[in-house]
Order: sequence, then structure tokens, then C-alpha cells
Amino acid sequence: MIYLDHAAATPMRPEAADVMARVQAEVYGNPSSHHALGRGARGVLEDARETILRLLGGVATGPSRDRLVFTSGATEANHLAIRGLGESAVKGGQSPGTVHRSARDHASAVEASKRLVERGYRVHEVPLTPKGHPDWTSLGGIPAPPDSCDIFSTTIVCSQTGVIDEAVPCLGRLPGRRVHADATQALGLVEFDFRSLAADTCSLSAHKLGGPRGIGALLVRHGLEVSPLMAGSQESGLRGGTECVGLAAAFASAVEAAVLERQQEAVRIRDLRDAFETGIVRIARARGLEVEVVGGSAPRAPHISTIAFHNADRQAIVMAADCAGIACSTGSACASGSSQPSPALESMGLPPAVARGAVRFSFGRSSTTAEVEACVNGFDGILKNFVERGIIRGIDQRVCIPGPDR
Ligand code: PMP
Repeated sequence: MIYLDHAAATPMRPEAADVMARVQAEVYGNPSSHHALGRGARGVLEDARETILRLLGGVATGPSRDRLVFTSGATEANHLAIRGLGESAVKGGQSPGTVHRSARDHASAVEASKRLVERGYRVHEVPLTPKGHPDWTSLGGIPAPPDSCDIFSTTIVCSQTGVIDEAVPCLGRLPGRRVHADATQALGLVEFDFRSLAADTCSLSAHKLGGPRGIGALLVRHGLEVSPLMAGSQESGLRGGTECVGLAAAFASAVEAAVLERQQEAVRIRDLRDAFETGIVRIARARGLEVEVVGGSAPRAPHISTIAFHNADRQAIVMAADCAGIACSTGSACASGSSQPSPALESMGLPPAVARGAVRFSFGRSSTTAEVEACVNGFDGILKNFVERGIIRGIDQRVCIPGPDR
């Protein structure tokens, strides 16, 4: 199987798997227990927290230390950030304002924003430009009532197109405004520094950078009030429940390895992606088909490429690829079964006949030149078959698309 779905989940790094197995077996004390085993577990947990904070540019020690709250993943971290910021503002006496959420935010940020409507907030979806960036200038006409709290939510790297939101610093951390950034797809291959990022909170996920599934984190700027989703004494009162020390230690190990190899890997993976895109465009055009790299003209993270096969059905392509031993996807794993086009692509204004044929390929540590070449060759066979069977039609030919959304 050629695995080109690293944006959905990455294979675990051997060093992280080793750390996880060892810590799970040996460090079994509860980090909240006061005896030696408990204190030992607390030490390992706090080391993991400090390592991640330090490597991601947070203030890891001292009185103005930022917080890092371990969660089950970025889904929970997005909920904790958006709902927790909104709740705490209302509890602190501010009136609920508007949640400005980008049209490319993950489903969890969409859901979390909806929950704040029950608390009196309005939700404004920030549309995307044709290049795939959130169009923050669209906020111009929305007045913020005095003493209210507005929440801005953005995704640093779009999980569909890889396009980077470079406007995060311009959103500004102003009074009455809270900024949340989802860094899930940015970690590992894109320069990331919490200190210089103009965001109050930032969500992370271990399994996108070679760490284990089942753990993520929310970075919380020093001094910021966030209401917990699940109250409890653990995680500075921001997430109740016994912490999983083994997962936290493995997460820290994966972050360490990823940061160490980031620059080199980013160049290697970008070159692979570029060679792949050139190859796919070449073979498609040679068969008289029209394809485009979505967001290809914008600054992108190196590992994600969405290619839209015009007048084709993305589910059919992904299934044919699977049969040919190539794992790719229609987009975010949580929405991949949906027959609806990705909200990000819709918001970019892609015509339906283009968005319907958009397939996401994502590269990672295990990707190689040989795999890219094999995948391009595999796709040549798939497209040949599709053309012969009339499943896809080329430029200037009558469009014929099978499937329910014909
Ligand atoms: N945000 C983004 C941008 C993502 O790509 C994902 C994973 N698809 C998530 C959040 C959710 O992450 P997790 O699987 O850790 O809950």
C-alpha cells in the first residue's frame, strides 16, 4: 500500500512507540498520588509538558509560564478553546459577541462555535478567497458591542488544501478579542512558534506528527481564563480525569523528533509533492483531462496536495486508488464519507464539477520518490480506465458523471 494520507494519521515513530511502551509498563502511578510512584509519574508528565511547551516556543518555566493542557486530541482541544474562552468571558461579566470562524475550520471548531450560540454568541463564517485563505477583510461591517467578547477561530494550515493562513498575526490579541488557532496540520513541517503567534490558544494533535493516537493538547497563553469542559483538579483545573502519562511522554518524544528534522523533511517532502503534482497533471493532460492543484498558487504546507479532476467523482477515484494499492482521501477523515463537497472548496468558489472531483494526497516521513513514481503510474492506469468506461470526460467533451449528485 502506498500511503498518501498522512494528513489523516501518520505512522508512529519508533522512538515514540518505545517511550510509550516503556512508560505505560513502568510508570503506572497516578500523577495525583502523593507517594513516590505518584510523584515519579507526575515528574514524567511534567517533563513531557515542559518539553512540548519549550519546543513549540511557549514559555515553559517561571512565573509567566504558558499552560499546556493535555486532551484526547485536537477535536477536544478545539472545543476546550472555543467553548472555554466563550464561557469564561461570559462568567467574567462580558457580553457574548461574535465567533468569527473560518470556513476551513475543522468540524470540531464548527460544532464548538455552534454550542456558543446557546450562550448568546453569534457565529460568522469567514469566507475563503479563491486562493484558499480566510478573507479576514470580510469582518469590516460587523460592529463589536462595547464590553463584549469576540472570538476569532482560524486554522493555520488548511487540512484540505495545505494553504497557510498568514494573517494570524494581523488578527491581534486586543481587549475584548480572543484568538484561537488550530495548529494540527502545521506541527511538524511548518515553522511554529507560540511566542510570536498572535493567538491566545492553539490546538495540537500527536498523531499528525508520528505520535500516538488519543492525545493532543491545547496551548493556553499565560494568565488567560478558560472554562473547562470537564471540571476536575487535573491539568490545572482545565481537564478532569487521570492523565495518561505514557501517551504524554510519547507525544513529547514525537515533537522532539519532528522539530529536529523539520527543516530537512519540509524540503524533502515539498520536492516529493511538487514532483507528484507535476506527474499527475502531465498524465491527466496527456489523456485529454483537465486537472488543477487547488490552492496551488498560495503559500502551502509541504505535505498536502488537493488535486481536482474536473468532471469526475472523487469517491470513485479514491475507491479505484484503494484497489490499486494507493491510500488517498477525499479530505478530512471526519467528512470523507460525506457526499457533500468540502466546505473549504465550496467557500473558495470552486465550481461544483471541479470540487466534486477533488482528491487529497498527503505526504509524510515514510513517503519516498519511488512511491510517488508508482502512484503517478497507478493513476495513469486509473484515468485510462475511467476514460475508456466514460466515467470521466475530458476537455470539450460532454460531461458524464456517475453517482447520486450527478
Ligand atoms: N483540526 C485539524 C485541522 C485536523 O486536520 C484534525 C484531524 N483531521 C483535527 C483538528 C482533529 O484532530 P484529532 O484527530 O486529534 O481530534
